[in-house]
Amino acid sequence: MTTASQKKELLQTRLEDKNMSNSSSEGTALITGASRGIGAVYADRLAKRGYDLILVARSEAPLQALAATLSRSTGRRTTPIIADVNNKQDLARVEAKLKDDPSITMLVNNAGFASVAPLLDADIAKMEDMIALNISALTRLTYVAAPAFVKRGAGTIINIGSAAGISVEAMNGVYGASKAYVLAFSLSLQHELTSKGIRVQVVLPARTATDGWDVAGSPWQKMPPEIVMPVEDMVDAALVGLDQGELVTIPGLHNGDEWTRFEAIRRGMLPQFGTSVPAPRYRNQARRSAYLPRERVRSSR
Ligand code: NAP
Repeated sequence: MTTASQKKELLQTRLEDKNMSNSSSEGTALITGASRGIGAVYADRLAKRGYDLILVARSEAPLQALAATLSRSTGRRTTPIIADVNNKQDLARVEAKLKDDPSITMLVNNAGFASVAPLLDADIAKMEDMIALNISALTRLTYVAAPAFVKRGAGTIINIGSAAGISVEAMNGVYGASKAYVLAFSLSLQHELTSKGIRVQVVLPARTATDGWDVAGSPWQKMPPEIVMPVEDMVDAALVGLDQGELVTIPGLHNGDEWTRFEAIRRGMLPQFGTSVPAPRYRNQARRSAYLPRERVRSSR
């Protein structure tokens, strides 16, 4: 039997092998939000694992620079697409690429932004932009990738959610809710696509050291270092999760059994939902309310 430390060593070696390999092509990975932060590290790691890349973001200079560096250092074909996926025409260009390029074997839905603004202080137009990027663009790209991958018989979809999708009280409510959507959507995709040979992984990072925190309004440099994960460590952990066949990867959750239990409770509850009879805690009172005037219901409690 392999001990925990042997298992860790084995995984590390496998990861290093995968990160260094540039001899064979794994196909092409299309990564949204690849100009910096988490997306840029995915680009680096996937190129080293043998993927050609299509990198999507709005900022031309950093995207071109990253594409040039990666193709030079890894020998992989790296194509930048300058696109704002919140713009319909730009999104359509990315969708067309996903649909028509048969070399694409992986979609990393990473572009997204956060906010720490409380609900009452948050600008509704910005919240709508957040919903458009974190939810609608991710959904549309998945809707193109999934059938294309099914047709090609294989493919991997990695959706970057957030621990805020569970810890919804931690940040701006719309952000938490948008990432709760990413989790729910990914679970449903796994349910429908796994049998068709498609891999779906949802990654739930917590605080990770990227410029995304400047966009959110709370730079990570001002946080206690012990609660912020280096971005390289976050992405490497997520890729180990993918190698291990995980469907949900939470890089910061040390006791992985907690998630297994959480998910088992959720699934265990599901069969109870389909019933014609309301729960007794509602039914008894609802019956009284239906037949008695309001005052008498109150006094009969
Ligand atoms: P980041 O450093 O701000 O990077 C965001 C990336 O998305 C950039 O490449 C940005 O490039 C691109 N992008 C933003 N809006 C876009 C648009 N409309 N169209 C195309 N590309 C766009 O943020 P990050 O921290 O790496 O975040 C990446 C993902 O991880 C997000 O989904 C975020 O919610 C999630 N996440 C982050 C953390 C964290 O602590 N950092 C934790 C949990 C989850 P351009 O500006 O050039 O377009």
